[in-house]
Amino acid sequence: MNLHNGSLYWPTTTKPFTPKFIEPLDIYDVVIVGGGMSGSLTALSLAKAGLKVAVLDKRMMGTGSTSANTGLLQYSNDIMLHELIDQIGEKDAVRFYQLCYEAMDDLELVAKSLDEDSDFIRRPSLCFASEENDVEKLKAEYITLQKYNFPCDYLGRNEIAKKFSFSKDGALLTLGDAEVNPLKFVQGVLRKAEELGVHLYPYTEVINVIDRDDDLEVRTAGKPFYAKKVVYTTGYEDVPVGKRRGADINHSYVCVSNPISNLSGWHEKALIWETKRPYLYARTCKEGRLIIGGMDKDQPEAPQSEELMMKRVENLLFQAKELFPQYDISIDYAYAATFGESTDNLPFIGEHPTKENHYYLLGYGGNGTVYSMLGSHILRDLITGHKNEDAEIVQLNRLSKSKEATNQ
Ligand SMILES: Cc1cc2nc3c(=O)[nH]c(=O)nc-3n(C[C@H](O)[C@H](O)[C@H](O)COP(=O)(O)OP(=O)(O)OC[C@H]3O[C@@H](n4cnc5c(N)ncnc54)[C@H](O)[C@@H]3O)c2cc1C
Repeated sequence: MNLHNGSLYWPTTTKPFTPKFIEPLDIYDVVIVGGGMSGSLTALSLAKAGLKVAVLDKRMMGTGSTSANTGLLQYSNDIMLHELIDQIGEKDAVRFYQLCYEAMDDLELVAKSLDEDSDFIRRPSLCFASEENDVEKLKAEYITLQKYNFPCDYLGRNEIAKKFSFSKDGALLTLGDAEVNPLKFVQGVLRKAEELGVHLYPYTEVINVIDRDDDLEVRTAGKPFYAKKVVYTTGYEDVPVGKRRGADINHSYVCVSNPISNLSGWHEKALIWETKRPYLYARTCKEGRLIIGGMDKDQPEAPQSEELMMKRVENLLFQAKELFPQYDISIDYAYAATFGESTDNLPFIGEHPTKENHYYLLGYGGNGTVYSMLGSHILRDLITGHKNEDAEIVQLNRLSKSKEATNQ
């Protein structure tokens, strides 16, 4: 599957990553299938817990969806807290939002521990009302977030206009979010994991995993690997064991602009998004470029037609110009990429309901990086035999318990 098509920006900001070759062990505590954001953070977390870990990736690590990720890190989710409370109840919904909020600190700690700068910077987020009708929804969310002590503010038309070069009927400003260069971050995490003894095998596709009496045989096109447990962090592609259910795989578009020297009219370089679905989103980056995303379409693979892709990316540029007419913006990089969302807006994290020792971390949704972070801790606890009180919220068979089955 082609996970992205077009000209990516992040690979131009860093050198390609080449892991050291190490002769594989006879058996690992854990083999991780997939070395993107989820696989690298899980490897780091398990290595810190003292486990012997190998990461296998059919590509070079970090070149999957991680290279297309626009790097907005937010505690607010595609589903608002008050809506999530209606869906799964107050206790679990609030706890899930807290996990996302705490993951922001964990991501910062990881970023600070890396040898290279991954351009992790704290930013506020502005979610504006796309239509007047959405104002009530934003106000309800503001009251709910305040009730549970999540840092946020509500801005009316005039307050928005004081901070930004545009105005809207209303907006929610959430605090404590961040931006990152996801490719630099993942490369740094992989280097750190290597230092802690993790073995990395790029260009090693896992075809199947066979249950044996005492261990698991991880079959690849070459020699097999052996492990006590396997973690699948395969992103939006099919998992080698089990079937994906409860998720929609679509694709989305990204425009990266020329550097803008004066970013006036953009309050604290906030991460910007809106209430409409699919939504437009925008951030700035270290070089002063604007990264603008959206225009999600139903088909899983990005179109091969350059003309079609450019038409949609130009639409993103047009929307950004409406918000910031004072900038002289043009397109430097344009791409489309596969993007997955779960039907209940929560990630899938945990052990397979019937296959012992097979674990999954599939962080579908706009907050994928936050899910990779919190999921790496949940999996560490489950794999090392520690109780994790939060695991039930994101477990794989939660949908089959309610309406529909998931990865079985
Ligand atoms: C356009 C776009 C914008 C996004 N923006 C954001 C954002 O702003 N903020 C955010 O938090 N998230 C964002 N995301 C989501 C984020 O990119 C994903 O959550 C994240 O990349 C998922 O990481 P991953 O490790 O699961 O997937 P990947 O990075 O795709 O890693 C999975 C790896 O598994 C490997 N693999 C698959 N199958 C096999 C196999 N059988 N054998 C061996 N290896 C295998 C692949 O080669 C790949 O390298 C965005 C995604 C897209 C596409």
